[in-house]
Amino acid sequence: MPQGKPAGVRCAQLLPDLRCALFGDPRRPPVCASLKPSPGMCAGSAEQALHGLLWLEQQTAP
Ligand code: SF4
Repeated sequence: MPQGKPAGVRCAQLLPDLRCALFGDPRRPPVCASLKPSPGMCAGSAEQALHGLLWLEQQTAP
């Protein structure tokens, strides 16, 4: 996504099985490669993790 990923938009590199298509690829954005997941971020399920991401996007919106 040359202009960056807008909030609320699924990343174009996210595969149907929720893996990153660029994992291990030098084209993967540095912010993604440097992200250290934590139990609080991942929560107990993909649905809970998405809820947390949406909350963070709302809290950090300009
Ligand atoms: S790690 Fe980055 S590039 Fe890969 S799917 Fe997630 S947001 Fe997209």
